Amino acid sequence: MRIAVLSRNPKLYSTRRLVEACEARGHEVTVLNTLKCYLDVASHRPSVHYKGKALEPFDAVIPRIGASVTFYGAAVLRQFEMMGTYPLNESVAITRSRDKLRSLQILARAGIGLPLTGFASHPDDTKDLIKLVGGAPLVVKLLEGTQGKGVVLAETQKAAESLIDAFKNLAANFMLQEFIKEAGGSDLRCLVIGDRVVAAMQRQAKAGEFRSNLHRGGTASLVKITPEERSTAVRAAQKMGLNVSGVDLLRSNHGPVVMEVNSSPGLEGIETSTGKDVASMIVAFIEKNAKANKTRTRGKG
Ligand code: ADP
Ligand code: MG
Repeated sequence: MRIAVLSRNPKLYSTRRLVEACEARGHEVTVLNTLKCYLDVASHRPSVHYKGKALEPFDAVIPRIGASVTFYGAAVLRQFEMMGTYPLNESVAITRSRDKLRSLQILARAGIGLPLTGFASHPDDTKDLIKLVGGAPLVVKLLEGTQGKGVVLAETQKAAESLIDAFKNLAANFMLQEFIKEAGGSDLRCLVIGDRVVAAMQRQAKAGEFRSNLHRGGTASLVKITPEERSTAVRAAQKMGLNVSGVDLLRSNHGPVVMEVNSSPGLEGIETSTGKDVASMIVAFIEKNAKANKTRTRGKG
């Protein structure tokens, strides 16, 4: 097959591993810098141009779209979809997953376990908003943060109130969440391909920190997840419409709760801590599922 990887940096671990896996399985693979692609939108034969010419059609495209380029990246991917190229994850699903509120609403609608969550911009009753998530301690999240940057723990009612007041004065939408203390600073990253969790790791925050992000000094290890955690992760991925995703769960005393569903999960942490060849499993999934014009987005938007 002819496979394109949309990625801004061919040297990144995940990109390299996907290229290796494609080549090892006998495919022709090209890494395209997402931002350098330009699109012929108006023509009756849509095309993607790169380095001065229209690209020959690909059978499949693997989007690795960073959070900071979601908007343009989704447009490039949509263009491939219009041309009939099979997308590993669809543009609509990626856009959806990048909006934390929208994602949680989709999961809530499907009855998937979530932390108690509130969402606000300029709430006219701060105390009532806090009550909604069961009071302090609670977690406040900016809507578009990644790597734990926009996530703050308010340990007392007073701290929560001042934090919310501060956010009110910024033009920021934010999310309030029950603090899952019993998770003890750790979460589960489940790598879902199709209808299976193919690898799972536990991430543990460093001492004195509740955020387990590896970028914040968290450490990863192999973990055995329960059947309930497994099915929660798979259902979350499916409701988001993602073929490949990283579903983050917290172990709460009311069962597994989903924190977020990542549409371009990094492969380094999960491959290193589990010893699994996730990249090859992704390529095998493409071999099995890729068909021309197989996207729900085609002709829609
Ligand atoms: P980001 O997108 O920036 O990674 P997350 O929502 O994943 O933001 O939060 C970062 C980390 O903070 C999580 O991996 C988890 O360890 C911790 N965390 C987030 N929400 C909660 C919560 N409600 N209760 C306990 N810990 C949380
Ligand atoms: Mg996270």
